[in-house]
Amino acid sequence: MTTPAGDGQLYIDGTFRPPAGGRTGPVLEKATNVQIGTYGLGDDVDVEAAVRAARAAQPSWAALGAPERAGYLRRFAAYLAGHFDELVRQSMRETGGVRAKAEDEVATSIRQLEISAVQATENAGDLLPPYKAGKLSMSRAVPLGVIGIITPWNYPMNLAMRAVAPGLAFGNTVVLKPAELTPIIGGQVLARAANYAGLPAGVFNVVTGDGPAAGHALAEHRGVDLLDFTGSRAVGLAIAASAATDLRAVRLELGGSNAFVVLDDADIDLAASAAMIASLEFQGQTCISASRHVVLCDVADRYIEAVTRRVEALTVGDPLNPDMDLGPLISEAQRDRVHREIVAPSIAMGAKLITGGTYDRLFYRPTVLADVTADMPAFRDEIFGPVIPITVVDSEDAAVELVNGHPMLMNSVFSRDLIRGLAVAERLQAGEVHVNDAHARHGAENQMPAFTKRQWIGVQRTPLTLPTWTSDPAGRR
Ligand code: NAD
Repeated sequence: MTTPAGDGQLYIDGTFRPPAGGRTGPVLEKATNVQIGTYGLGDDVDVEAAVRAARAAQPSWAALGAPERAGYLRRFAAYLAGHFDELVRQSMRETGGVRAKAEDEVATSIRQLEISAVQATENAGDLLPPYKAGKLSMSRAVPLGVIGIITPWNYPMNLAMRAVAPGLAFGNTVVLKPAELTPIIGGQVLARAANYAGLPAGVFNVVTGDGPAAGHALAEHRGVDLLDFTGSRAVGLAIAASAATDLRAVRLELGGSNAFVVLDDADIDLAASAAMIASLEFQGQTCISASRHVVLCDVADRYIEAVTRRVEALTVGDPLNPDMDLGPLISEAQRDRVHREIVAPSIAMGAKLITGGTYDRLFYRPTVLADVTADMPAFRDEIFGPVIPITVVDSEDAAVELVNGHPMLMNSVFSRDLIRGLAVAERLQAGEVHVNDAHARHGAENQMPAFTKRQWIGVQRTPLTLPTWTSDPAGRR
């Protein structure tokens, strides 16, 4: 089996083809800046063709038996599994993540396909209590139609797959627009997998291209029944505002400033260990990264010392070198944002630089900032870089008050007293809260059901002992 080409082709109506405008852009290896492929700069003409193909294919795809659709998904998964090592390497080169992150990304994508294949063949409706004697009432799940999917660059394969796999499983057809910084692992590879699986023409389409061109065209297309967008708050807000003008359906997965609360009875080694994952996994470039460490004053000095010791032991470099804990940031723009808009202004406002704060090319030293206050960018904004900003408070109530009131996706609370940890977790407003853990079990099995607001509470039950996640060959603790 060959490595996916990165040849700049789009995948529309079952055929690989160049973009209508004939233009391509380079795909760069983030650690070396070497070009490793090209991506087609699709535009509204390509999006139109893809949506048209998806619309045409949808009724007969939905009419297939569920086991038949599940079979396609399993073959899709088999392609990814058969290319596992190549895809892991491709992800490492294209995203700059270390091996453990890349393995997790590809493995989660495969599991997502397998789970969706099973879900496709499960109960597809309910028998309802009749509203009147003599009536029989039923409901059944029906496909939405064409799903447009726009994805970011940080976990390009599995963030696509979490929408692609269930979308296809339930009889929808898909047009995917991957991020321009990771169009091979996030799109071209998936087109090859779909082609290998023999998916009927038009069922799965990939239009690579830039956000304001291909992304905008897909987001605005009236032939898309649901737009599933994962990315920044700024773009999400623009999409939502536009969709509101004619009530187009959108599902948005955006960013936030997540908190990591260390109470005064916390196991400090456990908390500092988890902080490495919470704030530094994939160089802090995940939507669930802890952006704010809120620590009670009695344990603050010990926490800062424990975190700094671990951070200073981390290595930063090309992720293809297995000795590296952190790879490069995704782009110069991202590095400059982290440095110039977060770290430097926070220091200028009075934050204390404990370690880090420097960079070489895209390699940003993991950074610890103390004396961070709520008005600083390091506290306020989503960082998306390897920075641990620490804010000290004098009470549990002050911690809760400080954490709430900012948009966030996932928080953590550390306390040796599980009941106390759970009580504080319940007071924090976030989609997910972990007690004595971070980023736990966020795999394909634990996806939140769409269109519900639900709080999920995860508890770490076994002690964390390893200083960094890369010490564990399984990629986690
Ligand atoms: P981004 O919003 O810049 O780009 C995301 C996608 O949107 C890309 O494919 C891009 O090409 C496209 N896009 C850009 N402008 C567009 C436009 N005008 N119209 C339509 N599409 C457009 O985000 P990013 O920098 O790629 O990703 C980082 C952000 O994603 C962070 O804020 C992070 O928190 C968020 N994120 C959220 C989740 C989640 O599950 N909630 C997961 C990962 C990342």
